[in-house]
Order: sequence, then C-alpha cells, then structure tokens
Amino acid sequence: MPSHRVFNFGAGPAVLPEPVLEEVQRDLMSLPGVGMSVLEISHRSPTFDHILQQAEADARRLAGVSDDYHVLFLQGGASLQFAMVPLNLLGPDAVADYVLTGSWAKKAVREAQQFGQVHIAATTEDEAFSRIPRAEELELTPGAAYLHVTSNNTIVGSQWPELPTTGGLPLVVDASSDLFCRPLDITGLGLLYAGAQKNLGPAGVTLVMIHKDLAVRSPDTLPTTLRYDVVAKHASRYNTPPVFAIYLAGLVMRWLLDSGGLVPMEARNRRKAELLYNAIDRTGFYRCPVQTGSRSLMNVTFRLPSEELEQRFVAEADQAGLVGLKGHRSVGGQRASIYNAFPEEGVSALVEFMGEFERIHG
Ligand code: PMP
Repeated sequence: MPSHRVFNFGAGPAVLPEPVLEEVQRDLMSLPGVGMSVLEISHRSPTFDHILQQAEADARRLAGVSDDYHVLFLQGGASLQFAMVPLNLLGPDAVADYVLTGSWAKKAVREAQQFGQVHIAATTEDEAFSRIPRAEELELTPGAAYLHVTSNNTIVGSQWPELPTTGGLPLVVDASSDLFCRPLDITGLGLLYAGAQKNLGPAGVTLVMIHKDLAVRSPDTLPTTLRYDVVAKHASRYNTPPVFAIYLAGLVMRWLLDSGGLVPMEARNRRKAELLYNAIDRTGFYRCPVQTGSRSLMNVTFRLPSEELEQRFVAEADQAGLVGLKGHRSVGGQRASIYNAFPEEGVSALVEFMGEFERIHG
C-alpha cells in the first residue's frame, strides 16, 4: 500500500481498487490513442461506444444475465430507483410486496407508497432489524406486481444469505451495497439496481438490470427520462450519460474479471468478514447487533461497552490510519465496510487494533 493511503472503511463512496485508480491517473490526460481525457470525449464518440459496450458486456458476464435483460446505466442514485421501480412497474390496481429489513428498505417502501399500493411481506423492525426474515415468514400477495428486497442492509449490517424464492413474482433487488460481492443467483430476477459508489465505482451512476418482460410495463405518461423502456431503447444514451462514472465502473468490472471473477471474490470476502466477526465474538467486549446467519459480508457493525469507549475507539483508530469506522448516525456504534476493493491487510490491521484496544480498556 502506498504510504499516503489509509485503510478506508467508509460505507460509500468507498475504497476503489488501487490498480483502477492507477490506470485512471495514468490515462487521465489522454486515453491511449485518443489524445483527449475521458472527461472530455463525446458520449456518442466511437471511443465511448466501446467503453459503454464493454461495461455492459462485463456487467452481463459478472451477473450471468442473458439477452433477456436490459443492462442500463442511469443517474439519480439508488434513491431514484426507489421511485422509478413503482412508477414503471406498479400499475394503478396492483400491489407490490416489500420486505422491510432496514432504513434503505424503509425509504424504498415510503417512496412506493406515494405511487401505489404496498404490502409489507415481512419485516424484523420490532427486532431492530437484527436479522433477515426466514423464508416461511414471507407473506406474498398472489399476483403482486413484484417483490422488493434489499439484498444488503448497509446501515444495520445485515445481508440476505441467499435471495428469497418468490413463488413466480418478479424479484426486484436493491443491491447497492453488495453487488458482485458473490455470484448472483438470478432465478426469478425481474430487476436489480445498484448505486455504484460502494462496490462498483464512483458516485454518479446506477446500474440497472431489468428483464425485458418488465421493461414493457413503463406507462407512457411518465417523464421520458424516467422510463426504463426509453432508456433501454436508447442503450443508456437517451440523454448524456455519466461518461466518467461509467468508464470507471467499467474498469472496476474489468478488475473483478481479471482477478478471477466472483467465485474467488466471494471466498476473499468471506475470509475478511470471518476474521472480523471472530474478533468481535471472541470475548464479549465487542458485540455485533446482527444475528449469525444474517450478518453482512460487506458492512460489519459492532458496539463497545459504552458510547464513551466507542468515541475513543473511532478517534484512536482514525489516528492509526483506520478511517471511516463510525457507524451510521441513525444507529451509532461502529461499522467497518469491507467491500470488494478493501484489502485483507486492512482487516488484519483492524483486528490487531481491536485486540490492543480491548487489552487496554477491557
Ligand atoms: N440502498 C442502499 C442499500 C444503500 O446503501 C444506499 C446508499 N447508502 C441507497 C439505497 C441510496 O443510494 P443513493 O445515495 O445512490 O441514492
């Protein structure tokens, strides 16, 4: 690690792979053979045609989706998808099922309620979202427009161990904070969306994969830029797309593929998470608020015996070059986000720091 880079545990925008940053830096003044920066090229130039097509092809390859799906690059973050999903897919007389597993899921629910009828198929809110609902707890509405789940709950630190079966309902997944952390099971997948700024690239682009059968649902009364069918027809270039963010997300996907794809990435993510959860569970000084079986590979949350110690922990960790460990303001505590690009050495450094902190304060 270059000496000036800290270990960045921030939840997002988050750490990016160093080889990607180096490539961006090297090519920023002039893309090889182009003589211009990627920041300056036309979104209709052959250079960008190639960047976009490659990014789309790599996203397809990583996700394992066929031509039955459109792969789109949008703007407005995952938060705009909270609205676009119901606006496009939830007709006036239909119901959409949502599983409420955390703060982001709640925002998705609230947004959908503005536009249509929502049924909460399951929630663990009365258990402080400390676990993902079990399969038998899901109450699905026959004929619902779709079932929405948040595959990884960034704030509380929980993750679906595997995506639920939906009894034929199209599954809509907010995968903003765990996309490509493991191979994706696309059985029953209707639509997947992910804001890029955690596991995929910089802020400013949202990846959407939508089954072609769903894309035809977009009502023509919607604002044009909010229609999946229009964005798909124009291959993500109905208007100017976020060229730089797509380029960078493309480099991250290349890096993933060049490092062997999602199988070794999952193994690496499991090693990192296990190391950290073992350190948390070891003595009782640290405590993870999420139950085993629902714990996230990406956002590891933990508490200390007092808030005073927690403040001290975060401040001293920061001094030691372990930054971004403060939990989300809505829940407090600590959160170590260890996305794909987060190095294993950083997790070891945190575990060592935790041991030392406990020795002094425990
Ligand atoms: N969903 C999840 C699971 C998230 O973690 C976030 C951002 N932290 C969002 C949605 C909202 O994303 P954006 O800021 O891109 O709108």
